[in-house]
Parts: sequence; C-alpha cells; structure tokens
Amino acid sequence: MQYRSTRGQAKNYSFEEAVMAGLSPDGGLFIPHTIPTLPANWKSEWANKSFQELALDILSLYIDESEIPTADLKVLIDKSYSTFRSEQVTPLFKIRDGFYILELFHGPTFAFKDVALQFVGNLFEYFLERRNKKETSGKVHRLTVVGATSGDTGSAAIYGLRNKKNVSVFILHPRGRVSPIQEAQMTTVLDPNVHNLAVEGTFDDCQDIVKTLFGNKEFNDRHHLGAVNSINWARILAQTTYYIYSYFALLKSLNIDPASPQADEINVHYSVPTGNFGDVLAGYFAHRMGLPSAKLIVATNSNDILNRFFQTSAYEKQTGPDGSVKATLSPAMDILVSSNFERLLWYLAREAEKDDGATMVGPETELDEKLADHAGQCVAGWMKALKESGSFTIDKEVVKKARLIFDSARVSDEDTLNTITAYHQPQNNQTPYILDPHTAVGVKAADEVIKRHHLAVYPNGKDIVLSLATAHPAKFSEAVAKALQASPGFDFEKDVLPTEFHGLLNKEKRIVTVERADPELVMAAIEKELKGEGIQF
Ligand SMILES: *Cc1c(COP(=O)(O)O)cnc(C)c1O
Repeated sequence: MQYRSTRGQAKNYSFEEAVMAGLSPDGGLFIPHTIPTLPANWKSEWANKSFQELALDILSLYIDESEIPTADLKVLIDKSYSTFRSEQVTPLFKIRDGFYILELFHGPTFAFKDVALQFVGNLFEYFLERRNKKETSGKVHRLTVVGATSGDTGSAAIYGLRNKKNVSVFILHPRGRVSPIQEAQMTTVLDPNVHNLAVEGTFDDCQDIVKTLFGNKEFNDRHHLGAVNSINWARILAQTTYYIYSYFALLKSLNIDPASPQADEINVHYSVPTGNFGDVLAGYFAHRMGLPSAKLIVATNSNDILNRFFQTSAYEKQTGPDGSVKATLSPAMDILVSSNFERLLWYLAREAEKDDGATMVGPETELDEKLADHAGQCVAGWMKALKESGSFTIDKEVVKKARLIFDSARVSDEDTLNTITAYHQPQNNQTPYILDPHTAVGVKAADEVIKRHHLAVYPNGKDIVLSLATAHPAKFSEAVAKALQASPGFDFEKDVLPTEFHGLLNKEKRIVTVERADPELVMAAIEKELKGEGIQF
C-alpha cells in the first residue's frame, strides 16, 4: 500500500515515509492510494478475534509485509495494548436496550488518544532503530517531538513516547493554566526523554512557538523535529480497529451470528464526539472497508464548523467574540477548523467528478490516476480559499451523498451538563453512568438524531447506537462535579476518581519553566535538556 497527499503534489509514499513525515511536503495529509476491502469471509473469520488480533489483520491491509513483517507488527501491536487496563482494550457498556457506550479510555492517560498514540510511539521507535541498524556512517537517526497542549492531549503524547529509544519529547503548556490533574499527569512522568516546558503565556503562545520552531530550518535540521498531532496517518489507522471490534462485541452480546441475515438487518450507528475529525474519520475508513455502519454521527460542541458543514454544505471558520476559539466544557474539541476534515474532502472532491465511478459509499473502485490528481487540485483550491477568505462551499448534491453516511448535531454546554446529570440518575431500564463532558456531547447528539429521524430502537426496531466515550470523567472534574454536585450522595473521590489518580498531585514532578513566551528561550531550553540527556548535536 502506498500513500498520496490530499493536495495532489505527492504520491507513492511508503507507510514509513507517510508516518515519519506526518504532513506531506505540499501541505496536504496522507491517504492510502486505495481503501482496502475487508476479506470476503471477515464476518465469520474475524468475529472471535481479540482486539490485538483484529488490529493485526486490519493494519496488515494498509502496511505491506515488505515494510513491516507481520511478526514485527504483531509485537508492536501487542506491546501497544499491553498498557491498557481492560482485557478487551475498548469494552462496551450497555446503558439501555439499543444504546451502548464504547469506552475508549482504558489506556494509561484515561483518554481515547492512547489507542493511537501508544501504537505511534512504538512505531517511531521501530522505524528509528531499523534506520540506525542499517546506517553505516555512524550517524544516529533521532526524533525530537515538539508539541503544545492546553492540558488534555499532552499526556497521551508523553505516555506514548516515554522511554522510547532515539526519541525525545517536549510538550509546551501554558504555565498555571492547565487543570491540576492534567498538569500532574504530564509532569509526574520522570523518564529522561520526557520534558515538560511550562511557558509563561497562553496556549496560543505555545502553539505559535511550536510553529516557529518547525519553520526554523536550521533548528529543525539539527534536531529532526517530529509531530504527533492528529494528522498523522498512523493515528487514524490505529483507531479503525475499535469500530470493527465493537461491531462484533455488540452482536456477540445480542447473541447474533455476524454472518447471519439477522445481523444484516441491524443498523449500527456510531456517535462520535468530534474536534479535529480524527476519531470519526477512522469510522469512515472502517465503513468504506465494508463495515456495515448505518450512520456516523458527527457530534460537536459549540465550535460547530463540522455540524454547519453537514447542514449547509458551507465550510466556514467562525471565531468567538474575541477572535479566538470558544472555550467550552469539552475543551479537547475546541477548534476553529478541523484538521483531518481535509481527508474526507478529498473523497468528496472525487465524488464531485464522478466519471471514474467514484463513490464515497461502499467499496472503492479502481482508481483513475488522472481523476485522483484532479481531486487533489480541487482540495488544494478549497484549502486555499479557506486560508484566504475563511470559507468555501461545495456542491449540495455531494454533501447529500455524504449524508448517506454522516449525520451531525451540535451540543451546547448547558445540554452537556444536563446530559451528564440525566445519565447519572437511575431511570427505568437505564443503568446509571457517569459521562465525561466530551462523551456527553456524543450521547446527547445520538439522542437528538434518534428523535430527529424517529429511529426505531432495538429490540422493537433495528437501530442500535454505540456512543464513543473519549475520556474518563475524572479527567474533566470541573464539568462533572458541576453537573453532579446536587445529586444526593454524590462523592467525586469515591464515585469518579480511579485509584491511579490517588496521590497523583503529590508525586514528584519534573518541569522546566520558560519565563517568557519567546521561541529563542524555548529553543535554548530544548538544547539544554537534550544535552542533559547526553545527546550530541
Ligand atoms: C481529542 C479528543 C476528542 C476529539 O477527537 P478528534 O479526533 O479530534 O475528533 C474528543 N474527546 C477527547 C477527550 C479528546 O481528547
């Protein structure tokens, strides 16, 4: 399998090249040349596999044996998911008939990003070690990963990369503006290759500094900067596993044979709380491979560019009153534009051309290279318009086609809190559950879509919802405590806080403070820390 850029100027990249580069040189994102199809007998052959076995089969469709031998890939996958606290890695929890929570937060940092980043860290280490073994000049291939976080995502990157050979990781956070639990999750990791930089400034300052560093050719050449943000293809790929795994888990719990006609009658909807469109994009690939999903529900908070797109076909950047992103109770989804959406746009562009029989639903057809290139030009044009005027609009008919797979809803902070409160209360035929605010956005969106389309929910009808839980409620204590403080007998420490978090705030920390939001100071701090690791440059 080879990879091409969504903007048409790069193709025939290997998996390794696509993963190590992250972003394509033309500014686009990597997608596979074609989307592979699930094997004809997948429903019978794959039904009883473990998460790890399934991941191996799925990833093997996208990574050639000649690039990573199957035995090696198996070791990487097993190692990546050995850090999870659940044997099923991503277990299902039944809330009521026809409505399930797909729990993606059983990894080391209690958030869904672990599913991908545990694997990405091992993959980086594997590729670097292999390059170093082949290297005869004595040069050492290394990676210096640099990223910014407002709190929630930095820890997943740190836990994915801690202790990895030939990788150093620097995570910038705005000093004193990160919640205490999230700060502690990052700064109590004491591995020598992990460096937390507390920058005196805002999250935007941190992000600007990271951009400046990546744009500094000399610094970049010297330290081989790497990124682990959600545009990396390996992250999307690793996430496809839980869509297929949960489909089987669901049918198993209903005692339905996946290969039976009864299974074909069931409509499985996935509701996905979304910011950068990475999680739900993995669902799109699973669907195109042949997973019979009914709808992928794109659930946004009030930073709702994606919801507006699916409703109006205009993709339009809207800033809050002060020109920045709106701060909500689900901060991991606070975005102005959605970085992975560009990948879906490429498939929409191909749909717009049509003559190659392209269809964005169902298995992929043989690819006409000329038309694929044309789709790349089309996406490049849209992204240019977005940059220059803040918006673009695409053909309504094409969006109508997309809506065969996607539905969407926007959820306010008020509804997020009300949903957390409502789902915590024991109700008829419903098991009480404590939702984190991101998960609550997905759950509320699913409930809205059920109402909007008068879905007939199983067992009376054929519709079933799997709502993706992207974080453990303990990570977002403020919103959860606010929603539940009035509930009789509610005790955050007892009811929410996992034992792993006990005492976290008092553990030993390692932080480097940067006194001013100045790229020069950050570069100096990075070089000082690298020297401290004993790295020569
Ligand atoms: C990153 C994140 C999301 C959004 O995921 P995308 O892939 O950007 O759509 C949702 N919830 C939590 C808790 C996250 O950390």
